[in-house]
Amino acid sequence: MNQINYPEFANDCLHDLIEKQDIFNAAYDINGYENWFYNQATGLLTFSTGDDELNFKYVEIGTFSKKSNTWKWSWDNEHTLPSVKDEAIQLKEFGAKYGYEKLTEGYFASSEEEAWEFTAIAAKLIKGIGAYRPTSEQLLIFMVLTEFVDTETAKNVKDLYVECGKHEYRRRAFVCSHLMARKKVGFEESFDTYENMELHDEDDYQAWCNECEVVRQQEDGWNEKSMEFADIRVVCEQCYFEMKEINLGYR
Ligand SMILES: [Zn+2]
Ligand SMILES: [Zn+2]
Repeated sequence: MNQINYPEFANDCLHDLIEKQDIFNAAYDINGYENWFYNQATGLLTFSTGDDELNFKYVEIGTFSKKSNTWKWSWDNEHTLPSVKDEAIQLKEFGAKYGYEKLTEGYFASSEEEAWEFTAIAAKLIKGIGAYRPTSEQLLIFMVLTEFVDTETAKNVKDLYVECGKHEYRRRAFVCSHLMARKKVGFEESFDTYENMELHDEDDYQAWCNECEVVRQQEDGWNEKSMEFADIRVVCEQCYFEMKEINLGYR
């Protein structure tokens, strides 16, 4: 790409997004749904009416505060989970390459119009299929939708997450009932884990205590008896790593 001035570039992106959005709206009637819901952990944006739902993978681009008239890029936002902002770092890199300061500064005075420009630039770089900005009072969240997700796949993804009273909505993890006491009881894992690691859908965090390990070895693995002794519980991944820390001084 040749060096072009920023206003021209931003304007081109905006025109592209408008065209893209028309195609998107024609394909998926998102305004025809009664509810919307997004989840940073799953990275899914869901539109629904009753049981009928429509899901997309999304990337959070940034937020515009109507109160302070400021823009904050998602890559600069510590409250945004990596799962929905990792791809947005491309914008910063692109900005650095072409000397577009607005793409490299994390937080600055801006306008809602400009927020759409940023979203349009993001849609181009990330190759989004459309953009969305949920209605809200003060803080406007700008998203780029990257792919349609069929209902069954979306359900399978959502099943991998649990609601935790302490940590909200997180990836599920399995532990033996003895670890629930949050005391030093030993911590055996099915594979080495670390926080925020990328986990394949078919993998699960699984840990058990020393006593469970003894029974497991006596029984030559997991069977009815060793499983009964372990009495496996479901917790969220944050709780899992808290238990790991208690036992192994991890982190
Ligand atoms: Zn145990
Ligand atoms: Zn938790």
